[in-house]
Amino acid sequence: GEKASNDIISTPNYNPLQTYPNATGHRANATFVLLARNSDLVGVLNSMQSAEDRFNRYYNYPWVLLNEEPFTEEFKERVSVLTRAPISFGLIPKEHWFQPDWIDEERARAGRQKMMAQRIIYGGSVSYRNMCRFNSGFFFRHELLQPYRYYWRVEPDVRFFCDLNYDPFLYMQEHEKVYSFTISLFEWEPTIPTLWQTVKDFMAEYPQYVENHNAMDFLSNDGGRSYNLCHFWSNFEIADMDFWRSEAYTTFFEYLELKGGFYYERWGDAPVHSIAAALFARRDQIHFFRDIGYRHDPFQHCPSGDQWKQGRCACDQTDTFDYTPNSCLKKFEQLFS
Ligand code: GDP
Ligand code: MN
Repeated sequence: GEKASNDIISTPNYNPLQTYPNATGHRANATFVLLARNSDLVGVLNSMQSAEDRFNRYYNYPWVLLNEEPFTEEFKERVSVLTRAPISFGLIPKEHWFQPDWIDEERARAGRQKMMAQRIIYGGSVSYRNMCRFNSGFFFRHELLQPYRYYWRVEPDVRFFCDLNYDPFLYMQEHEKVYSFTISLFEWEPTIPTLWQTVKDFMAEYPQYVENHNAMDFLSNDGGRSYNLCHFWSNFEIADMDFWRSEAYTTFFEYLELKGGFYYERWGDAPVHSIAAALFARRDQIHFFRDIGYRHDPFQHCPSGDQWKQGRCACDQTDTFDYTPNSCLKKFEQLFS
């Protein structure tokens, strides 16, 4: 990989135990990760302020910010005032970001034009495709993420509505969870026309990677013949990078990569992560964080009942995606009924 020349570590006075509410010193090997452009600065500030005030100022898990361009000095300075936890700013190696040379650009362009004609969001965007491919197969390989096992993905302009009075990373670890979500929904079919056939081909070729107690019934209403488009919304993720680094996922990603669908179509990291978690992990290793109030426009999850009260949630309980017509939460819960 390329040297990430603008990596810095700030906050020399960092003391993780100082503000830890339970003060047991029992921590997970975990970090926040936030991919952003310099132009996302204000959105990054909003998201970090929210995550810090509702959780991390008591826990001080580190932040890793990533960008395919160097972050500006202004960006780094302004972000650094929001947390006492260590922050590092990483540059993404070119080969992890840009469209590979072996992609047939004629075919990729035709795919973009077709999607633009269908008025699909980001249909004509190459940078969005770079981002989806990076989040699918590369972020967990970044040098700055190598020390960590668990991560919490944050995007610009998201909001956390509730106090979190426990450590979700430790929860993941202690319950052997590998992937978690707050919102699940249906994908736009035209962005992934050949993804499911590719997944089926992969399963036929590599049956050893498919978990017996998987969550196929979350993805399919007919035992795997067709994809019902359900996926977890990946702008929020708390997950185990060892899962993405596993032989199963590495082989799966490489298989998808060589089909070129990140560029010929617009395969999103959300369906890719969701399909992998549903097929290669046990269904009980996927967790719905019902108590994490969260908004990424235009949808939100707002906890109810005791969780709303205990979390001092600042959201409208009637505005929650959970059982609305476009939500897949019911499908997820049926796995356990
Ligand atoms: P949406 O949520 O699907 O509408 O997509 P976003 O625009 O929020 O992008 C998803 C994430 O990728 C956010 O964290 C963005 O800041 C980040 N992102 C998107 N495009 C780029 C890009 O070209 N460069 C960088 N560095 N980050 C990007
Ligand atoms: Mn977003």
